[in-house]
Amino acid sequence: MPAVFLGHGNPMNALDRNRYTEAWRAFGASFGRPAGVVSISAHWYINATAVTAMAQPRTIHDFYGFPDQLFAVDYPAPGDPELASRVVDLLEPTWVGQDHDSWGLDHGTWSVLVHVFPDGDIPVVQLALNATKPFDYHLDLGRRLALLRDEGIVIVGSGNVVHNLRRIDWSQPDGGYDWTHRFDEKVTEIMTSAPGDVCSTVDDADYPLAAPTPDHFIPLLYIAGVADAAGEKAHVLIDGYAMGSLSMTCFAVGCDQVASSGSGEAPPLPDVPADETNL
Ligand code: ZN
Repeated sequence: MPAVFLGHGNPMNALDRNRYTEAWRAFGASFGRPAGVVSISAHWYINATAVTAMAQPRTIHDFYGFPDQLFAVDYPAPGDPELASRVVDLLEPTWVGQDHDSWGLDHGTWSVLVHVFPDGDIPVVQLALNATKPFDYHLDLGRRLALLRDEGIVIVGSGNVVHNLRRIDWSQPDGGYDWTHRFDEKVTEIMTSAPGDVCSTVDDADYPLAAPTPDHFIPLLYIAGVADAAGEKAHVLIDGYAMGSLSMTCFAVGCDQVASSGSGEAPPLPDVPADETNL
């Protein structure tokens, strides 16, 4: 099964059809039905390593200022307690907490999966990002999760290579700053040639602006680890920019390049301060 990093950007992508969402759909339609999904979302960033282990995870609307229609989205995918246990076993001796009643599926997961698996019938577990750990910890967990691909599991990372809400620029709905382009291109170079080297990007001069907090970047480390474990390189599923300081670039591993016929830019943000939206 393939693995993929999806630049989720604005949660309004869940309700939109644009060139990104069409690429996500084309990716999901390009392989057979998986047994399950392990999703690593930027939006479950806590002081522990944990996995959702409930039979029916709730759809979490963890953002502010968006239309009621977005708060009404329910992604009905079941959980998979057995898959959660498998993740716990696979990552030993790293301790992974099993969450039965705290989290669920946050918008990092469902705003993309509504397109990748629109029927919402593939079981999904989410893995938390342990905020106390360095980059190579996450890369290593990704390497160990790679075995799940042979068990029919798709591994999805959801974040953004460049994500700086304080620098959102309304005059560039489909564009990026110079530093946005530079950092995105540098990461693309590494992911498509030597994904195991991805941790070196933290030393890049543009990293502090591209990732003022690391939460949206860390999911990429898991997909880089998956690729590295298999001796594979990632390829660009689709790339682009939004609002100056967001990269929408997506990387796939272990699948052919998919053709997407979508068009249109990412949807606009609601008219509230971007750094208060939790996007
Ligand atoms: Zn986000």
